[in-house]
Amino acid sequence: MSNSTAVPTPSPPGAGSLGDIRSQTLEDLQGQFALWKEPAYRVAQLLEWLYTHRATGWDAMTNLPKALRQRLQRAYSFSAVEMARHQGAPDDTQKFLWRLSDGAFIETVLIPANPALYGEASDRHTLCLSTQVGCAYGCRFCASGLEGWKRNLHPNEIVEQVLAVERWHDALAASPPGSRPAAPGGRLVNNLVIMGMGEPLANYDHLLRALRILNAPWGGGIGARRITISTSGLVPQIRRLAEEPLQFRLAISLHGATDETRGRLMPVNTKYPLAQLAAAARYYQEKKGGLLTLEYILIAGVNDGLDQIKPLAALARRLGAKVNLIPYNPVDGLPWARPEEAAQDRFLAALEREKVTATLRREKGRDIDAACGQLRLKTERTLPGAAS
Ligand code: SAH
Ligand code: SF4
Repeated sequence: MSNSTAVPTPSPPGAGSLGDIRSQTLEDLQGQFALWKEPAYRVAQLLEWLYTHRATGWDAMTNLPKALRQRLQRAYSFSAVEMARHQGAPDDTQKFLWRLSDGAFIETVLIPANPALYGEASDRHTLCLSTQVGCAYGCRFCASGLEGWKRNLHPNEIVEQVLAVERWHDALAASPPGSRPAAPGGRLVNNLVIMGMGEPLANYDHLLRALRILNAPWGGGIGARRITISTSGLVPQIRRLAEEPLQFRLAISLHGATDETRGRLMPVNTKYPLAQLAAAARYYQEKKGGLLTLEYILIAGVNDGLDQIKPLAALARRLGAKVNLIPYNPVDGLPWARPEEAAQDRFLAALEREKVTATLRREKGRDIDAACGQLRLKTERTLPGAAS
């Protein structure tokens, strides 16, 4: 089994005109194999190499004829991420920093056994995926937006985050002393939260393609209801997502229940103020039924005042949404702080008195910079030559 730092078979110049192999859907491959007059069962064999064995190069695919492998290599690129840093916290949250083929960095966080965070209580391994390098939305409190937006991730770069973490886990399981129980080739990740770096709905087409691959039985096999997409509130894309056949969970980063408070934290609120956002969220909820969460970071002295309770409760009730309260994770160089625990508890209790279902999530992984964008920022500032 290849490990996550394995370098894929180099592609010849001019190769890859059809894109990366892990950006292809079943239909794409079936169409291409039909054009090549290759038998249909070859597609199934290829998919098994990609998503069951998590191969990182063509040479591993020994049951495909050499001529077909060469043809594939000419037609498709096959890029793997390289592990630049890995941190594991004592509570077992693992944070990965990947270097992409153009030298850019992105992060992925593995959060094991965290019941009922998102989705159902049988939640075992949740992976938090990035969708862009940097972020253009510039929320005042967030590390990901600090140095601007660089580019969208390609579908394969989103899919590859899952496969690379599973390869890393397989390699651990294969090394006997103190190894954790796992079946190499078996699935580790069964929940996804699209809450890493970037605004997922600003990279809509690539995200949806990646999620279709991660959801498909021949791909990642992760149920759509076990995939939560978090957005800062892009209204047209929320409406578009409501029309998709797949039933994804949606989390809206609210962080303020009045335009005044939200606008102080999130510039996107100028373009899509709360009334418009609420209407789109309501539409999503009507179409999907019960798949909406409101995320609310608590920041001391900014949005943790009890004046936010009534409008927040009214919005949550109107939308039939649950509220996730998240104590702010301080970011180096930014002035914001998390409120005292007593203030957090007061906010939660006040919301509950308003008959809103709310949870206060004292985050795992705080000690390994698990909040959005923080490991990348530190790496870019400290590793010589690491700036992408
Ligand atoms: N761009 C999307 C998804 C990525 S951010 C969005 O904004 O929803 C995922 C979540 O992490 C968001 O709710 C975001 O507000 C939150 N977040 C960002 N920085 C944080 C920090 N320092 N502490 C706690 N939560 C943070
Ligand atoms: Fe971008 Fe989300 Fe961070 Fe805002 S919170 S800057 S939208 S990643």
